[in-house]
Amino acid sequence: MSEASPLDTATPWYACQRCGNCCRWPGDVRVTDDEITNIATFLDMPRIEFIEQCTRLNANRTGLSIIDKPNGECLFLEGVNVCRIQPVKPVQCEGFPNVWNFPGWREKCEAVEAPRPTDAETLRAKR
Ligand code: SF4
Ligand code: SF4
Repeated sequence: MSEASPLDTATPWYACQRCGNCCRWPGDVRVTDDEITNIATFLDMPRIEFIEQCTRLNANRTGLSIIDKPNGECLFLEGVNVCRIQPVKPVQCEGFPNVWNFPGWREKCEAVEAPRPTDAETLRAKR
């Protein structure tokens, strides 16, 4: 995995095309403590219920991740490309592919090179 600052103007900026592919590929969608609280509140669920029903231990056992559906896509993906928790989705989801990505990500992600936004909120517009 590589990480870059979204404010680093020397690197290209990629605009998400809302294909939903990153919600379908395998791996951890990590949630922090604050994100767990925010998502549970958004879903109107008790925090403990959210943890029990919607999360699992992440691969390296250092925290929690959102569980997958049986078909492998994220529990909160609706249809092809709608995130059910869009306003409170984890920072990991917001950051791809501009803040972090991995070798070969271009083969899966349909984001296109675009002028760098000046509005930090643009990250949240993804999906
Ligand atoms: S939380 Fe939303 S944006 Fe993140 S992987 Fe799941 S469906 Fe996609
Ligand atoms: S970040 Fe890439 S893979 Fe994810 S929805 Fe946007 S274009 Fe698709």
